Amino acid sequence: MKNTLKPLNTKQIAQQRIDILFKQANTIGKTNPTLATEYIKTAQKVAMSARFPLPKKYKHRICKHCKTLLITGFNCRIRIQQKREPHIVATCLNCGYNSRIPLKKKKKERAKIEQTPNISHETPR
Ligand SMILES: [Zn+2]
Repeated sequence: MKNTLKPLNTKQIAQQRIDILFKQANTIGKTNPTLATEYIKTAQKVAMSARFPLPKKYKHRICKHCKTLLITGFNCRIRIQQKREPHIVATCLNCGYNSRIPLKKKKKERAKIEQTPNISHETPR
């Protein structure tokens, strides 16, 4: 059977595949974390080959160190830090890696923060 649908461009195909992979990883994350990690690695490869960054909503759910899918209350501990720039600290309970997710403010407020001299380090994007 030939596919009669309008052909999608690479980016759209990649995005769809990433969505599917993450959905699958989410479903099996608690029962089969190893397979979930494989799905994530595949999703990252898909994004890389299509040359676009992984959407932030997904990026923040992957441990940068061991690539595990972070599931709050299962393999991930979430803490909110209010000191200096408010941010979320997500600790991967698999490898102990801490990822910092800045809580973004509105652009105007953010500009003010960036001008404050005490804040020297920023999480690279
Ligand atoms: Zn980890």
